[in-house]
This record gives sequence, C-alpha cells and structure tokens, in this order.
Amino acid sequence: SPPLRPSYRVVVVGAGQAGLAVGFYLRRAGLEPGTDFVLLDAEQDPGGSWQHMWDSLTLFSPAGHSSLPGWTMPPWTVGFPPRDHVVDYLRRYEARYQLPVRRPVRVRAVTDAPGTDGFTLRTSHGTTTSRVVVSATGTWTRPFRPHHPGIEDFTGQQLHTVDYHEPAALARQRVLVVGGGNSAAQLLAEVSEVASTTWVTTAAPRFLPDDVDGRALFEVASRRARALSGGEPDPGGIAALGDIVVVPAVLRARSRGVLAARRPTHHFTADGITWADGGHERVDTVLWCTGFRPALSHLRPLRLPRDDGHPRTSGTRAVDRPGLFLLGYGDWTGPGSATLVGAARTARSTVGEILAALS
Ligand code: FAD
Repeated sequence: SPPLRPSYRVVVVGAGQAGLAVGFYLRRAGLEPGTDFVLLDAEQDPGGSWQHMWDSLTLFSPAGHSSLPGWTMPPWTVGFPPRDHVVDYLRRYEARYQLPVRRPVRVRAVTDAPGTDGFTLRTSHGTTTSRVVVSATGTWTRPFRPHHPGIEDFTGQQLHTVDYHEPAALARQRVLVVGGGNSAAQLLAEVSEVASTTWVTTAAPRFLPDDVDGRALFEVASRRARALSGGEPDPGGIAALGDIVVVPAVLRARSRGVLAARRPTHHFTADGITWADGGHERVDTVLWCTGFRPALSHLRPLRLPRDDGHPRTSGTRAVDRPGLFLLGYGDWTGPGSATLVGAARTARSTVGEILAALS
C-alpha cells in the first residue's frame, strides 16, 4: 500500500459508520478524495465495529430507519436487518462513494504540528499532517468493566460483550450476566436458552414499552436535535422512557421468566458469588455487559481538558482545540450520534463547520 501523503486538509480517524458519513459530506463539498482528505481505519475489513458484534445481533429498526446519507440501506426480508447486512451495507457504501479509506492504518498519536494550527498524526503507516482532524473511533475497542469486590479471587471465566459471539460456547454452564442495558438483556435472552443464568443489575432494569423500537428512539433523538439546534429547552433523551428495547428474543425470555434481576450487593469468591443475604451461588462464567468508553487514546498528547471523561464539545467541535472534531461516540457529540441515522445527521453539520474552519 502506498505511503500516506505528507499532508491533507482533513484526516478522518476511523471509518465505521460515523467516519463514512463525514467522508460522504466532504466529498459532496468538493474536497478531493485521497488528496484533500483521507479516512484511516485500524480494521482489516470494512464495517467498523459491526463486524465484531455477536452473531445473532439485529438492528433495533427497519433498514429504512438505519441509513447513512445519500443511499438508503437496502431492505431486509423479514424483521430487522442482521449484523451482516449492516456490514455489507457499510462495505458497499464506501465503494459506492469511492471514499478514500486506508486500512489497516492505526493512528497512534495526534499532536500539535509545530509552527502551524494543524496536527501531526503518527500512524502504523508513517506520519502525516492535517489542518483538520475528525476523530470517529467509536467505543468498541474500549470495553468497560466495573470493579466488583472480590473479583480478583474469582477463578472462573470472565467475558465482556466484545468477547461473546454465540451461546453454544456457554452451554450447560452457570452464567452470571452483569449489566442493565440492551446488550445484557439480549445476551441473557439467548444464553438462558442453553445455560443456567443469573442477571445482576445495579438498579431494577427499565424496559421500554413493548411497542417501542429503534424508530421511536430515533424520533426522540431527532426531536431533541431539533429543539437544541433551535435554542429550545432540552426535552431529554430516550433515557427518560427506559433503557431496554423489548426485541423479540427479550420478549421470549420474559415469557420464560428469566428476566428477573438481582442487585449486586455481593462479593465474588473463587468459585462464584456471595449475595447480601449470605447465600452463595457457584458461577462458571461472568459475562460483563457493562458498556464501553470512547476510544480516545490517540488524542491524549493534545492534553485536552476533560468533562465527564471526554474532551469538551459543542456539537461535534472540540471547544479546546480548533480544527478537531469528535463524532459518533454518544450523545455528548450530538443527540443519537452513536447510531446510524444520528451519525448521518451530525456528520452533515460537522462538515459545514469543517469547511468554515478550512476557509
Ligand atoms: P465504530 O463502528 O466502532 O467504528 C470506529 C472505527 O474506528 C473502527 O473501524 C475502529 O477499528 C477504528 N479505530 C478505532 N481506533 C482507531 C485508531 N486509533 N486509528 C484508526 N482507526 C481506529 N445503532 C443503530 O443505529 N441501530 C442499532 O440497532 C444499534 N445496535 C447496536 C447494538 C450494539 C450491541 C452496539 C454495541 C451498538 C449498537 N448501535 C446501534 C450503535 C452504533 O450504531 C454502533 O456502535 C456503531 O458501530 C458506532 O459506529 P462508529 O462509526 O461511531 O464506531
């Protein structure tokens, strides 16, 4: 693969859905692909983190509600699209718009370029510079696991959502599923079909009404985006309604009675867990479905002040470093910006700001 150019006007770090959406708008704005801008992605193959998610994962919403700008995701036959359909869509999307993605290229460090307003990027494929950097590295590569008392004594298997692919590997085991979000509920639903499961959450799980799927989530996020951009009071995100979407597998699990959750008032022992009432339960595997943190280690050399664990942003613009944008990680980079449609929406305004910065 040829070396990177010595300089670009815009470098996008990460070519998952968020990076691709930015690439689409940069191209549409007339920037020359591969010369003016490039996308650097650490993966071997297209699809961002979708290619690593568990085998049975499907979207929360129909294909038509899960699209990047320009080209709607092709419909899926029955139900919501599976993971591989999303990966295929992203692969075809970047080919369709001939987006200049270079992979595998990992950006190791972004620093201030001496004597200019721009940045130096140290990568696995050499060094380059850029006037603008868009960080769109997602969260999948930074799984989060909270500390629980005694866990260092536990000698069984510990997995995180990122390690899980299909239930067969846990067949006939005693599995403790930790976490109160969608990943926990969905993995519990399928693991409980082949294993004996216990669910642990820090508070009672909050299920959304059965008829709420991704469409309603995206409507709430869109309403919020409109209100905020119109200077209206924040109507709040979806969290006010609940956390867990009752997808068909979760619904089936509920009817089998496996969705009762226990609080984590306990400590782990070598072979399991002791509950607050003194009862002890043997555990073969702890499955941590405890979320993610933004993958931002490449930005560490910029020493940006942090707010709630991430650089301070206004929309997707880093308020403490002109020319730096962050896209896709969560609501702190725009309502719903970690979702497919949300990435599309925030990328559009980001590119508007990038053009202003370049001129
Ligand atoms: P990613 O897909 O993680 O892409 C980031 C890319 O950057 C990756 O290719 C990564 O390798 C690369 N990278 C990271 N660090 C570097 C570096 N230093 N240098 C170069 N490259 C780097 N959203 C929906 O819209 N609908 C859903 O139904 C839905 N379901 C979800 C289910 C689960 C279990 C999860 C975890 C998320 C779900 N999401 C859903 C949310 C969201 O769409 C995904 O998390 C999505 O993958 C985020 O896209 P991204 O582009 O921000 O990050």
